[in-house]
Amino acid sequence: MAEDGSAHAVVVGAGVAGLLAAHVLARSFGRVTLVERDALTGGAAGFRAGVPQSRHVHILWSRGLRALNELLPGVGADLEEAGAAVIGAPDQMRWLSPAGWFAGVRGTGYLSVSREVLESVLRRRVAASPVVTVLGRHEATGLDPVPGEDAVGGVRLRERGGAGREFTLRAALVVVATGRGSRTADWLLRLGYAPPAAERIDAHLGYASRYYRRPAAEPDWRAIYLQGNADLPRGGVIVPVDRERWLVTLIGQGEHQPPVEERAWLDFASSLRSGELSAALRGAEPLSDPVAFRATANEWTHFERAKRWPRGLLVTGDALCRFNPVYGHGMTVAALQAQALAAKVAGRAPGEIAARARAAQKAVARCPRAAWMIATGEDSRYPGTDGPPPGPLARMQQDYLSRVLVAANTDPVVSEAFFAVLSLNRRPETLLAPRVALRTARRRT
Ligand SMILES: Cc1cc2nc3c(=O)[nH]c(=O)nc-3n(C[C@H](O)[C@H](O)[C@H](O)COP(=O)(O)OP(=O)(O)OC[C@H]3O[C@@H](n4cnc5c(N)ncnc54)[C@H](O)[C@@H]3O)c2cc1C
Repeated sequence: MAEDGSAHAVVVGAGVAGLLAAHVLARSFGRVTLVERDALTGGAAGFRAGVPQSRHVHILWSRGLRALNELLPGVGADLEEAGAAVIGAPDQMRWLSPAGWFAGVRGTGYLSVSREVLESVLRRRVAASPVVTVLGRHEATGLDPVPGEDAVGGVRLRERGGAGREFTLRAALVVVATGRGSRTADWLLRLGYAPPAAERIDAHLGYASRYYRRPAAEPDWRAIYLQGNADLPRGGVIVPVDRERWLVTLIGQGEHQPPVEERAWLDFASSLRSGELSAALRGAEPLSDPVAFRATANEWTHFERAKRWPRGLLVTGDALCRFNPVYGHGMTVAALQAQALAAKVAGRAPGEIAARARAAQKAVARCPRAAWMIATGEDSRYPGTDGPPPGPLARMQQDYLSRVLVAANTDPVVSEAFFAVLSLNRRPETLLAPRVALRTARRRT
């Protein structure tokens, strides 16, 4: 181990993006330290304040599950062992889209699991590497520059609790995976780097979620998703998690924010476009109070476009690009970013990886494109959305997608194509393929 940090990588943030980045870097670096501000209880699953979104529905699309299995062979089986379940979407669900119910069609699958269990399984696997050290209860407060060079040479840390010791952890590469509240742009500004370009599109979506005991008498579906539409932008989801529980999330836009008071939460559930969700909750035993989450804007900080970029720095996951969570893309994109990073570091020594950080940043920043296009394209339909209004081309795309969705409700070919895109298995432009376009046009008449 080089004491000067030349064979050392530090990853800040032990969420999904940070865990996967640490795993990938452990193949190339002699030492990887995964720094997390929360206390981490080994492999045990539990809520922690640093990931407040974990109390809300977190599905992992089939593309993300495939990427996880490629990165950590067998992890899908570990997750199922821990209580996760693969659910066919929409065929094993009751799914009411803005265009109507999906009926008699297949699409793809997703892993239904609590975010806490998902993370604990990943953490156990990643921390098992002799190269990886997990350093909990330490908060990163800034980046440490290499004097006289255009380079980052470590990260400033403050111990949480105890003596509150402050120190610098030196490293050849610092990966920032600090999630939605990331301060990376401020940290770079302090080192003299210009603020990066940023995009923000906010549909003002709010979540309010709670757990229920899964009823002994199973309904004839495995999950429910009732989407809102332009007339009533309110929705709700029930997914099974960790074998014995249902996680129920209510969703609303603008003035339709779901409440957290018991009676009002139930009233909101009854006010959705279908009574099926509230009927399912009748007689079911709540296991927790509703909790809210409101900060759901799509935001992309374009670090990859920076004119000047220091050697030895990479930003990934939500710290780089975060989405309106209703499309369920964040963790899949984090897994794709880990794969992009793996391709960039393969066969290279730590010094070379650090020197090529800018190329890695560009590669990682390509991964959110499709998810960004889907989320912002949909969100910009709504008059209450903050952000640039859609231009003529975007409006044509929205119109076409609305027609694809109508066809996907009942046409198996269009449904398969639609879910392949939504799950990030295929690129959005594949929906323009002649067989999809023809069936979409036919369904319309
Ligand atoms: C309400 C909601 C629902 C969502 N649902 C889905 C879904 O259904 N499917 C899906 O794929 N994605 C979903 N997401 C997105 C998903 O949570 C993230 O995209 C995904 O977890 C990747 O995030 P991350 O690892 O970059 O950040 P996070 O998971 O937020 O992790 C960041 C970590 O960094 C730590 N940290 C932050 N600052 C510091 C610091 N200064 N020093 C040390 N540690 C620090 C935090 O404590 C945390 O552990 C949802 C998001 C929200 C908000």
